[in-house]
Amino acid sequence: MLDRESELPSFIARLPKVELHVHLEGAVRPETLWELSQNKSGLTQKVGEWISERRAQRYRYGSFGEFLVAFGIVTLLLEKPQDYALATTRLSEWLAEQKVKYAEIIFSAGVVLWKKQSVGAVFEAAAGAAEEAEARTGVRVRWIFDAVRHFGLDHVREVLRWAVRYRSRGVVAFGIGGNEERGPARLFPDIFRAARDQGLHVVAHAGEACGPESIRDAVELLGAERIGHGLTAYRDPHLMALLRERRIPLEVCPTSNVATGLIARFEDHPLPKFLSAGLVVTLNSDDPAMFGTSLENEFLEAARCFGFSRETLTDLCLNAARASFLGEDEKQKLCDEITRAANL
Ligand SMILES: [Zn+2]
Repeated sequence: MLDRESELPSFIARLPKVELHVHLEGAVRPETLWELSQNKSGLTQKVGEWISERRAQRYRYGSFGEFLVAFGIVTLLLEKPQDYALATTRLSEWLAEQKVKYAEIIFSAGVVLWKKQSVGAVFEAAAGAAEEAEARTGVRVRWIFDAVRHFGLDHVREVLRWAVRYRSRGVVAFGIGGNEERGPARLFPDIFRAARDQGLHVVAHAGEACGPESIRDAVELLGAERIGHGLTAYRDPHLMALLRERRIPLEVCPTSNVATGLIARFEDHPLPKFLSAGLVVTLNSDDPAMFGTSLENEFLEAARCFGFSRETLTDLCLNAARASFLGEDEKQKLCDEITRAANL
């Protein structure tokens, strides 16, 4: 009989999963980049060089800023609405392979605006591709429109307008990402209030490159319902208490934090501290293709580095289902599916 440890990978493989923090652009795998570059003149070679360079560096970046530049290069290859449709299709297929049943995909509307593309045309192509893929693979997708916080108030406001416009196409939330220092939460309370008033959920990346005060501001000034990363929360016991009492889920992405140089190793992530402090923790992949990971791999690494049991791994999936922006009935169905599969 196999021991429990050697059974874990197959347990993880079949566990129904929920992904709450994955960027569409960051999930474009090298093979999809090649696919995208087929009809583009002059770019193929550059893409090839970029991919091989990243692979040589084992998906590590010298700094968070360097990662943002790399992210920008990928987004420039997404030139046309059909490129976004292809990226979405391939992501849905990849999620299906990992038994992800439900995903809230972050659509960087802010980056689309920065590229002077039509948010409407691009998003409609992506949403259509997700609907088509759902019919084929069963992966349900909802969307989070993300603004670049250091691009200023007008930019962030414009992203919100687009998010509101596409609520009927599966946009469930509005959020901010980018440079926390140059775009602090205190700039955006009015915009977040407007988002909530319009019926959107609100999220924020926080405590990634900045300290715990950035997380506190996201919760208290913006009313963020979930925190992207929240890595530095462990430094402030009062903030930990606040997150526990208000049951604000953290979208933890350990491999991302290693790849962008915020922590040295996966096992240095405070994830076990968060769990033992009673916080609501979800496990996510962030920009999996750029970090050489996947959601399934995050579960495998968490099991390997922290010795998590089947029960803890199942709880992480259940936390994500409950922290999702689905309706209560749908959340319950998802939880039942996870529990059933875990007990097989
Ligand atoms: Zn992110």
